[in-house]
Amino acid sequence: MTDTLFRLDSVSRTYGSGAAALVAVHDVSCEGHRGERIAVVGPSGSGKSTLIHLLAALDQPTAGEVSWPGLTPTPLTDPTVVGVVFQGQSLVPTLTAQENVALPLVLRGLPYRHAQEQAMTHLGFLGLESIANQLPDELSGGQGQRVAIARVLAMRPRLILADEPTGRLDTAAARQVVALLLEAADELDGGLVIATHDPYIAGQMSTRWRMRDGELSVVPDAAIGVSA
Ligand code: ADP
Repeated sequence: MTDTLFRLDSVSRTYGSGAAALVAVHDVSCEGHRGERIAVVGPSGSGKSTLIHLLAALDQPTAGEVSWPGLTPTPLTDPTVVGVVFQGQSLVPTLTAQENVALPLVLRGLPYRHAQEQAMTHLGFLGLESIANQLPDELSGGQGQRVAIARVLAMRPRLILADEPTGRLDTAAARQVVALLLEAADELDGGLVIATHDPYIAGQMSTRWRMRDGELSVVPDAAIGVSA
């Protein structure tokens, strides 16, 4: 099995057509490998979310090809090989924290009680046992984002994609969330891609990609800390 988790070959994603066409991702070629920790930096509107969605197979390119040589089955046929942490609130508002984490396990066919037990174990890993029975709107932004991470980790994905997961958190909560994602990626022996504005977070990663007007460039190590 190859260590190349995903590959983009000359990938573009254009929204709309004709005069209204907007090229969100333009002719991007790149690879991500097992063990690699990738930060995607760049200003708002530069194509980071679109890139994350393409990597997650939540969206399809309008040109070029996305492939997942090291992921079997591919995310196209089994979304659980890739876990996505979305920007902001993504929990089901009518379910408790524990039920939110259990939901994808139940959808995968796990008996309800077993799924609830596994959910509690993962909430425990993130220090969230005490809020297991609370609803999302009773949680702080940091707690909610940690529950969303527990929900992803309970599926044990081989590739974790996070789209500005700390955008709405204070510095301490943001750093804790990133530390958890790094720890989880190590434990799962997988890959991690985080879209972020935060130069500190970018500096924690092994690889930095910069998006600008849909184009991707690799940031040399010497440029760490330079404005994201
Ligand atoms: P970022 O995550 O860096 O803020 P995005 O990938 O969200 O960038 O957006 C890149 C560009 O594509 C922006 O100009 C944005 O307005 C546009 N865009 C994103 N999603 C859509 C969509 N569904 N329809 C039309 N344009 C979109």
